[in-house]
Amino acid sequence: MRQPNLRTGIARQAKTALQHPKFMRAPVPEGHASPDDRVPARWRKEVERVLITDAQIAQRIRGMSRDIMRDFAGREMVVVSLLNGTVMFLADLIRNLALPLRLDFIGVSSYGAGTESGDLVFTKELRLNVRGRDVLLVDDILDTGKTLYRVLGKIRALKPRRIKTCVLLNKAARRVEAVEADYVGFEIPDFFVVGYGLDFAERYRNLPFVGVLYPHVYKKTSQQVIPAKPRKAGGRVGG
Ligand code: 5GP
Ligand code: MG
Repeated sequence: MRQPNLRTGIARQAKTALQHPKFMRAPVPEGHASPDDRVPARWRKEVERVLITDAQIAQRIRGMSRDIMRDFAGREMVVVSLLNGTVMFLADLIRNLALPLRLDFIGVSSYGAGTESGDLVFTKELRLNVRGRDVLLVDDILDTGKTLYRVLGKIRALKPRRIKTCVLLNKAARRVEAVEADYVGFEIPDFFVVGYGLDFAERYRNLPFVGVLYPHVYKKTSQQVIPAKPRKAGGRVGG
C-alpha cells in the first residue's frame, strides 16, 4: 500500500479546518446547544464551544432508531459502517435498534501527498455478503458527498435489495455530489467539527459532544505533530 505522507496530510487538514473562518462567530443553529452549554473544564483550552450536547445526541439517536426500525421491520438488515469516525455514533445507534442485524465495516481514508478531498483509499473492505440484503450504510458526517457517493457505488455493485443511508451530521452547504442521506441526525452549518467520533488529526474523537475547536489548536496541532521527515510507518489522517 502507498505510504501516507503524514506531514502533507496533517498540514492539509489544518488548512481545511482554517478554511472555515465562519465557525467562530456563527449563530448557534436551532435545536443545537444553547449558548450557555459550557465546554467541560478539561477541554476548555482547546474547544471553543459545544455545538451539540451528548444529551441532544442521545435523544436524536432514539428518534432516528425509531424511524429505521419502522422502515426495516420484518427483515434482517446488514449495517455497514464507515471507519473510523462512526465509532461512537454506531455504538449508540445499534444499541437502540431492536431488530435482527449483522454488522460490518468499510475503512475509508484520505491520504496525504497531494491527495484531494474525495480521493479516497479503502483501508478495509466489506466481508459480509450483502447480495439481496437490506443495507443500512452509516457515516459520521455528510459533507461534499464524495465519500458516500463512492461507497454507495461500491455497495450497489454487490446487488443488495436496497440501501438506506444514515449520517449523524449533514453539512448541506458543502455538497458537491448529488447524494442525500435517508436518516440525518442534525443539519449543521459549514463548521469544521470534532468530537463524538469525529477527529482533527486523529485527536478529539473521544469528546462526548460535537464541538468546534479554537483556531489556535489547528495551528498548534499541525506544528507539533508534523515530523521533520515522513515517518517510516506513516499514519492515517482523517477518516
Ligand atoms: P465528504 O466526502 O462528504 O466530503 O466528507 C465525508 C468525510 O469527511 C467524513 O466522513 C469525515 O471523515 C470528513 N469530514 C467532513 N466534514 C468534517 C468535519 O467538519 N469534521 C471532521 N472531523 N471531519 C469531517
Ligand atoms: Mg469519515
